[in-house]
Amino acid sequence: MRTFVALELPEAFEDEVADLARQLSGMVSGRFMKRETYHLTLAFLGEIGEAESREVIAALDEVAGSCDTVALRPESLGTFGKPRDCTLWLGLTQTDELMTLADELRTQLDKRGIAYDCKAFRPHITLARRVVLPKAPLEGLVFPAADTACRLTLFKSTLSQEGASYKPLYSVELG
Ligand code: ATP
Ligand code: MG
Repeated sequence: MRTFVALELPEAFEDEVADLARQLSGMVSGRFMKRETYHLTLAFLGEIGEAESREVIAALDEVAGSCDTVALRPESLGTFGKPRDCTLWLGLTQTDELMTLADELRTQLDKRGIAYDCKAFRPHITLARRVVLPKAPLEGLVFPAADTACRLTLFKSTLSQEGASYKPLYSVELG
């Protein structure tokens, strides 16, 4: 199965992210993510089997025992890809606590021999894909207020033509 580890977002924060997406949907064309897909990926694992998933669960338990809840501070919009066909996301401030949490998770995965995409961690919440950006800057947007993430989850991702769907397999509470 295809998997990743992500922070779940508090409901009030998700409401405000959805609100930002609604503002953007009037300014850019693209395929906007459904609200229930919002998450903050800390490590993308890709294909893993049963034995590996047990190791990931042990890693999450370990992280929960040593890491506190983390602040989510919306910072700016960003994109991956070409301006006429990109992924649009909300970037979060790389606070020490958020970077430490991602480091700790990755250390625990390393310890158990679980591989993940090891590109540098860039905290973001994907808002839309296949986006065509206008030439003019996006202005007048209201960003979500800062909030706190408390739950770390192993997700299974199922890809389809309508976009991926994510199913929580195991969660731990931080702090
Ligand atoms: P699709 O690939 O169909 O557009 P998706 O990207 O939402 O859908 P996945 O590819 O399964 O679904 O990705 C799950 C999560 O992991 C998303 O947050 C995605 O941004 C992130 N992710 C996917 N691939 C990588 C990667 N190689 N490195 C880091 N993060 C990744
Ligand atoms: Mg993908």
